[in-house]
Amino acid sequence: MEYMLLIKYGEIMLKGQNRPYFESQLIRNIRFILKQLCEFKLIKTHGRIFINIEKSLFSEEEIAKKVSDVFGIVSVCLVKEINSNLDEISKELENEAKKAYSEGYKTFKIETKRSDKTFRPNSMEVSKILGGVVLDILPEFSVNVRTPEVTFYVEIRKMSYIYYKQIRGNGGMPVGSAGKGVLLLSGGIDSPVAGYMALKRGLKLEGCYFHSHPYTTEQAKEKVIELAKKLSIYNNGFKLHIVNFTNIQLEIYEKCPHAQLTIIMRRVMMKIAEEIAKKSNAKALITGESLGQVASQTIESLNVTNLAVDMIVLRPLIGMDKIDVIKIAEKIDTYETSILPYEDCCTIFVAKHPETKPRIEKILLSEEKISINDMVEFGVNNYETVVI
Ligand code: ATP
Ligand code: MG
Repeated sequence: MEYMLLIKYGEIMLKGQNRPYFESQLIRNIRFILKQLCEFKLIKTHGRIFINIEKSLFSEEEIAKKVSDVFGIVSVCLVKEINSNLDEISKELENEAKKAYSEGYKTFKIETKRSDKTFRPNSMEVSKILGGVVLDILPEFSVNVRTPEVTFYVEIRKMSYIYYKQIRGNGGMPVGSAGKGVLLLSGGIDSPVAGYMALKRGLKLEGCYFHSHPYTTEQAKEKVIELAKKLSIYNNGFKLHIVNFTNIQLEIYEKCPHAQLTIIMRRVMMKIAEEIAKKSNAKALITGESLGQVASQTIESLNVTNLAVDMIVLRPLIGMDKIDVIKIAEKIDTYETSILPYEDCCTIFVAKHPETKPRIEKILLSEEKISINDMVEFGVNNYETVVI
């Protein structure tokens, strides 16, 4: 008998009237991943999703691992489905127990749940009986109810389910359930992590990267595309807009006080990203800024950057230390790519002593020397979109 996957989801369950909306988004996202891996049937019942894998080149465990990346999922269990009678449950548990024992587990417990409360005997009694069944065939396998190495879960519903393998998901909300946002994605460590956190709370992302060829190399661009690919796992693909930023950057460099370069550049980026977001029907911008990390991320600088746009700007990393950001980057496998040594535009056009407390009045005065509107118009008309 093949395993089925049982998907458990958490926070969505609390959504009351809106629950179907979140559930169907979750199911769409699960289907998107599964389609690439196997032939399957997906069944939804009472706050549970079951997946019957019909044909696949991958093992159930490999598929479960991939599915567990879908946001909104708390865990993916590899279950055996049987009829709800004690004989059949016992027989299947014997198989599972032998398997677990052969995998090296030495102590176990059994946890029974009945959603059908008319089922007799009751949960406690079922656990006891099944414990005896296991001990009969595997006398060395001992019971430990406090800290078992493995727990056999038995769920008795219309049908019954047995499982002991459970792959933890990442929680969060289904991507797309919160609408769409545009991530300002650079080649650094922070912005991919910021994207991951926005995805986790249900935003679907498009990316926007400002490329200053030849000051930033083709490799720098490839690096950002690679990062977008890593994020695409969670995003059901990824659209990355690559804006030709060279002329804009050169003009700012030529005409504005150098201490203000980064901040003005950042403001122009935000304005262009905002226009691209509007075209894509996105409702938020996301950056990898963290308070106090560099000169352009003091509260004054963030404020001046923020004033460039009307759209809400989300900064998921605002209160995080670099070391914690790096931990997430490692977990989502962006770190190694992010630390490749290709310059991003800001490291080339950077001043020796950037302003750390810019004032908006002064910045607006400097911006009068350049034609911001033309720059934004140029940016919005000069980008290519890479679809992953
Ligand atoms: P990151 O590691 O994400 O590059 P950082 O700590 O290097 O961040 P900055 O370079 O000051 O910080 O950039 C702050 C934020 O501005 C980035 O997180 C990103 O969201 C955005 N950003 C910076 N440069 C670019 C770029 N070339 N294209 C798109 N977004 C950018
Ligand atoms: Mg950077």
